[in-house]
Amino acid sequence: MIPCFNPVLGGAELRAAFACAPGAVVRFEGEFARAFEAAAAVAFPYGRSALWAFFRALGLDQAEVILPAYTCSVVAHAVALSGNHPRFVDITLRDYNMDLDQVEASISARTGAIVATHLFGYPLDVDRLAEIVRTAEARHGRKIWVVQDCAHAFGARWQGRLVCSAGDAGLFGLNVSKTITSIFGGMLTFGDVALGERVRAWRDANFSRAGWTKVLRRRLYLAAAWAAFNQRLYGMVDWLQNATPLLDHFTRAYHLDDQVRFPPDYADRMLDLEAEVGLVQLRKYPEIIRHRHAVAQLYASELEGTPGWALPPLVDGATYSHYVVRVPDRERLLHSFRRQRIELGHIIQYSLPHLRAYSEYAAGQCFDNSWRCSQSTINLPVHLGVGPAERARVVAEAWAAAGRPARLPDDRA
Ligand SMILES: *Cc1c(COP(=O)(O)O)cnc(C)c1O
Repeated sequence: MIPCFNPVLGGAELRAAFACAPGAVVRFEGEFARAFEAAAAVAFPYGRSALWAFFRALGLDQAEVILPAYTCSVVAHAVALSGNHPRFVDITLRDYNMDLDQVEASISARTGAIVATHLFGYPLDVDRLAEIVRTAEARHGRKIWVVQDCAHAFGARWQGRLVCSAGDAGLFGLNVSKTITSIFGGMLTFGDVALGERVRAWRDANFSRAGWTKVLRRRLYLAAAWAAFNQRLYGMVDWLQNATPLLDHFTRAYHLDDQVRFPPDYADRMLDLEAEVGLVQLRKYPEIIRHRHAVAQLYASELEGTPGWALPPLVDGATYSHYVVRVPDRERLLHSFRRQRIELGHIIQYSLPHLRAYSEYAAGQCFDNSWRCSQSTINLPVHLGVGPAERARVVAEAWAAAGRPARLPDDRA
């Protein structure tokens, strides 16, 4: 079985989680800041908690926060739960990021912040965004905070410059589905030390220390994730997941897209054991990204011209957290790959303004591209477990499956 994602969890991460030392969170923050060229980094239990805390620490309330219509639902949840109002902007089909013309048109006197997501690791034009924000700040006479959502784009670069450093803060998610993981976890990075200290002080005053049961639960979760993604066991876990409800707790209860709420431990501090795992993972980061880049380049040439497939852009600074393709007839494709024992990813199968929870924010706009992507994207495996043999199987099945006739779902019925 070729899994769609595969965190590189090894013995070192397991040992780190069981032999953790006090102060690991501070060390992880320091190493993280160094790795991504930030002046400061502040750790959180989830990426969503980090974004929520950022708005709360700044006292941003009842403001409009601009974010993409097509992104992880927890981003909108963080905006809403912080007491602010999501203002969705449609994406482009070129790179799945916000349409900057629409960002410009959506800014008003009520705009307090923009969450610029670099979805699937494809960098957004941060220079144009900065220009738009500068002009709007002058016009409206207020600060507009810019958070670069780098949950998929650790180390992504636009014109050679790290995108996480292009705004007021960089946001990172560190759960097991991300490029690197601290079991769960989130991080904010800052170029401005004083702003970082302000957010850190707010966190320290408002986040509690987790109890020992959480330490136990996190160790068990890590051991389960390690076992689940261990190649020898993966076939069994895959069967458990697809043929039985035993793993639903792990795979589905984590975030329910249409329910605007956070997990109960959202305002706990990151655990030292999570930080220890993150420290081990941080060292693997360069190799992970090099590999993803190489596989993406090869897919691009080997899949060029696949009938009906829209391949993602090739961008030097992209991190390819996901190699995302738009395809006709996604369900049929998922099944035919599965028959070849290849699991395709299909993350973000919703468009936020089309969810019941956020329909009131759609305000008569269409968000057509967001809707199309929610219905037609798949992602091909690009993790370290994909060597030449695995890639050949993926490419062969792509050509075989795309060659069969299919209907085009590009327009809504
Ligand atoms: C995963 C993710 C986050 C943060 O998620 P958490 O699960 O709360 O750590 C933020 N933005 C995007 C785009 C994500 O995919």
